Amino acid sequence: MALSQTVETPVLTYEQPLGLFINNEFVKGVDGKTFETINPHNEKPIVAVHEGTADDVNIAVKAARTALNGEWKQITPSERGRLLTRLADFLERDIDTLAAIEALDNGKGVSMAKGDVTASAGCLRYYGGWADKIYGQTIDTDTNSLTYTRHEPVGVCGQIIPWNFPLLMFAWKIGPALATGNTIVMKTAEQTPLSGLYVAKLIKEAGFPPGVVNVISGFGRTAGAAIASHMDIDKVAFTGSTLVGRQIMKSAADSNLKKVTLELGGKSPNIVLPDANLEEAIEWVNLGIFFNHGQCCCAGSRILVHEAVYDKFLELFKKRAEQNKVGDPFHSETFQGPQVSQIQYDRIMGYIQDGKGAGATVVTGGDRHGSEGYYIQPTIFADVTENMTIVKEEIFGPVCTVQKVQSEEEAIQVANDTNYGLAAAVHTTNINTAIRVSNAVKAGTVWVNNYNTLHYQMPFGGFKESGIGRELGSYALENYTEVKTVRIHLSKS
Ligand code: ADP
Repeated sequence: MALSQTVETPVLTYEQPLGLFINNEFVKGVDGKTFETINPHNEKPIVAVHEGTADDVNIAVKAARTALNGEWKQITPSERGRLLTRLADFLERDIDTLAAIEALDNGKGVSMAKGDVTASAGCLRYYGGWADKIYGQTIDTDTNSLTYTRHEPVGVCGQIIPWNFPLLMFAWKIGPALATGNTIVMKTAEQTPLSGLYVAKLIKEAGFPPGVVNVISGFGRTAGAAIASHMDIDKVAFTGSTLVGRQIMKSAADSNLKKVTLELGGKSPNIVLPDANLEEAIEWVNLGIFFNHGQCCCAGSRILVHEAVYDKFLELFKKRAEQNKVGDPFHSETFQGPQVSQIQYDRIMGYIQDGKGAGATVVTGGDRHGSEGYYIQPTIFADVTENMTIVKEEIFGPVCTVQKVQSEEEAIQVANDTNYGLAAAVHTTNINTAIRVSNAVKAGTVWVNNYNTLHYQMPFGGFKESGIGRELGSYALENYTEVKTVRIHLSKS
């Protein structure tokens, strides 16, 4: 099968690389296998890409190791920064193509996809700026010694990303890893391999030496598992489900104790208190759950509303959710496209059935949208109880529950009644309440009077079962450096 193919989208035609990207070349997999990626809008295959398995991961790791000890090591930190900022420029140059790829492969609205491209370029440029600002310390212990620390690259990093933000997760992962001088074996999600391969082409064009970034299209149980258990990968960074996160950690423990960072699931609370500006709060609550079709690990899926404003809130929120434009990702006004796959569609519809069966009230939605594609209506459940599955488990779709609470204290108690701790929000116009609630909620990010406003300068990650470590900001750099202490004894003469 060919290593690239012309792909037509409703807005443009482009050349899509199909091979695995190893040592700056697109190649076929050792097993010679391919797999199709499906357009979630019409359920038809887009193209088939070459599939990587454990043997290909081995080859990629060797390439990454050679680069780490060779050409990449010789490149100055400033030059690493320049390569990253050049790559950011290329993402911006090709924004229309990349946005079209994301709309086609993932199903997100093309205007949202453009936002992802801009945020990805911003992230790469930000880490490009960090590349020559990675310093250790000098530590003064006594007059007979000189002690200093070096922040060295961890080494070959395995990175496994999900399908909900294929390009953005790619950027979040490679940015800090490359800024700090590591090399990478990246596995993209099997549902959305296309943007990663396109960026691989740009990585070569930007001038990164061979082997610094390798991109494997493949499945979790084969290529993903091979990365997690590899004896010559020094670190694994994973974004995805909590279930798989546990497996990755076990594989790391059972193999070479590679360093592990995990960005996992959530069931994030979004609290609306009586003094909130209700109209504004509803805009944010709507964005909090329905942005990216609810396929966000930090989605505000549990909405906790004070009884004083509950009825009014529910009436206005229903109205607002019903205004969300659901449909073809290539229509510029589309807010919500299809879910990514049949499996996700079935999983979400299963939760909706479960909620109905458990006696929750469907305020709006609760059904398929249209007759073709993996579309689901924006769905709001009310009259739920704490122990219902739809309140407990991450649904990862356009489905939320609204619960009534009687006080700020109860809101905090219910907010924290979860194994997850990725994000939370509170809507209030009282600064004291805002700070009190933010301090009390156990979550990696707390938004006050907004939601889902991530930024590459701000750390992001989870408390509790939502993960280990922080991505983005300067915090992410710590995941990709080993601290070495050098102590020199000073001779008297
Ligand atoms: P989802 O269930 O939403 O698809 P996953 O956590 O299964 O999320 O997938 C996220 C990423 O993890 C994907 O790239 C997938 O291929 C990968 N993955 C899935 N299972 C494993 C596994 N056992 N080991 C390593 N990676 C895996």
